[in-house]
Amino acid sequence: MPELPEVEVVRRGLERWVAHRTVADAEVLHPRAVRRHLAGPDDFAHRLGGHRVGTPSRRGKYLWLPLEDTDQAVLAHLGMSGQLLVQPHETPTEKHLRIRVRFADALGTELRFVDQRTFGGLSLHETTPDGLPDVIAHIARDPLDPLFDDEAFHLALRRRRTTIKRALLDQSLISGVGNIYADEALWRARLHYERPTASLTRPRTTELLGHVRDVMNAALAVGGTSFDSLYVNVNGESGYFDRSLDAYGREGLPCRRCATPMRRRPWMNRSSYFCPKCQRAPRVTQ
Ligand SMILES: [Zn+2]
Repeated sequence: MPELPEVEVVRRGLERWVAHRTVADAEVLHPRAVRRHLAGPDDFAHRLGGHRVGTPSRRGKYLWLPLEDTDQAVLAHLGMSGQLLVQPHETPTEKHLRIRVRFADALGTELRFVDQRTFGGLSLHETTPDGLPDVIAHIARDPLDPLFDDEAFHLALRRRRTTIKRALLDQSLISGVGNIYADEALWRARLHYERPTASLTRPRTTELLGHVRDVMNAALAVGGTSFDSLYVNVNGESGYFDRSLDAYGREGLPCRRCATPMRRRPWMNRSSYFCPKCQRAPRVTQ
């Protein structure tokens, strides 16, 4: 599953290669890829034609292409294996090509949505007054958003009776933080994943947000990370960052700070990686 940095890498690629181009036509090769567009594949293709693509936008892991002079946007669901590729027309069709978008210009490239497992897709939605597709209007800002409100986030943490990793993955509080980056930021902040959020002081919250941003920016700097070999960016290159990870996937390996063997615990159908010495489990109260 791509995380925020991977999605941002794709967004930047689309901004460079697709923004401000006018759609000539769209071709849906597999109806499942537009199943979230309830009016069907023909309607989807018809509605895109003739519209100019605005600046590709992102919130958390959600990515969309606004259609200029409309109040509509194409939302991309990358799912587990979805890829948005910008390819020259003559590049042979990918085996799992689901949607092809051609443009009314002479640049010689087209946008392709390729998805082996077809969990992803594209769908067209009305946008809210601030430009979000309506179906994601409830998603909180992400920590790389200049308008993210650190103080409001801290106060929300204090009010909630939850634990810190659950809060970091709660898209209504903060978006775009997935399992990998949560473990990395918590290791850097020396916080155990089950620490109650009500116990966090303002300086601790500020420090943690700083680590979340550092981890994401580091991943962005190398073009995104992924453990899914199917992940490729908009030009088809794989982005790997795993050698730089300090916590995720390091069970049994020495903590890079104190050399204590790292541990893995099952957590909400996933895993949490942590250092038992640097990230002490909270004492059980009650
Ligand atoms: Zn340690």
